[in-house]
Amino acid sequence: MIRCVLGNISAEDTGLVLPHEHIVCREPCSVEMFGDAYYDSAAIQSDAVRWLSDLKAQYGLATFVDCTTPNLGRDLDLLKSVSAAAGVNIVASTGFYYGVEPMLGLLSEDYLAEAMLADIARNPIGVIKSAVEMEEVGEYQIKLLRAAAKVHLQTHLPMIVHSNANNGNGFRAANILLSCGVPATSITIGHLSDTENVDTISRIAELGCYIGLDRLGEKRHPDLIEAVWQRGYGRQMLLSHDELLFSPFCERPIHKKETRYGHIFADIVPELQKRGFSAQDIHLLLHENPTRMLNV
Ligand SMILES: [Zn+2]
Repeated sequence: MIRCVLGNISAEDTGLVLPHEHIVCREPCSVEMFGDAYYDSAAIQSDAVRWLSDLKAQYGLATFVDCTTPNLGRDLDLLKSVSAAAGVNIVASTGFYYGVEPMLGLLSEDYLAEAMLADIARNPIGVIKSAVEMEEVGEYQIKLLRAAAKVHLQTHLPMIVHSNANNGNGFRAANILLSCGVPATSITIGHLSDTENVDTISRIAELGCYIGLDRLGEKRHPDLIEAVWQRGYGRQMLLSHDELLFSPFCERPIHKKETRYGHIFADIVPELQKRGFSAQDIHLLLHENPTRMLNV
């Protein structure tokens, strides 16, 4: 079973999956201050529907995992309306992004776990997102990871961790979750496509976790996918773009007119086929692996 914003689906219904994307991230204070003027939600909705329905018609995209947490401005009404209009399953996230917010620093591990459990009880949430960014995984990050692990142990929902591949902190985050009793097969360490160092990725794959090659878009990426595949981690690889249609990660938020949502289907798949990947290999990467990761 996979919990999507419009209801549960079974593993046979996931089709091709993009396992780490976003439709919007929003800065919660700005949303409160600008109100409806923060962004043109009708324009965002119709662009998102156009992108997802085109990818469904052209390539068979059927499931889109939106990794926007509440403190990244998750918009469940938008996700539901896009899912209904595009006919694409959308999985929404609970959890906390890494920024040290004054209150998050003070609140206890148990309270943060209770908050996520309340979110999951009230809303159709399918994944638990956590995040580590700095090289040192300090007390604050450990508290957030342990709270998320508690929520996993009660709900069995899959865990997706934003990591910084260039300082290798995903390995430490994975070990903290494992030490809490979370099975490796319920953990995805994300953003590993940011490194060229295949050893960093292998170290995490050896723990048994999923490895998110989920910021695809650079010219070197087919080489990286092939190198990780050749090391024997084909069944643990998750391919995605970490793309956003609306982004506040800049001086002023932008509504993008061009996105990379279709890059894997249009560019990466033909390139992998040229390198000898079979239809079955592609099906493993774009359907079987993310479906197994999401299915609880
Ligand atoms: Zn992301």
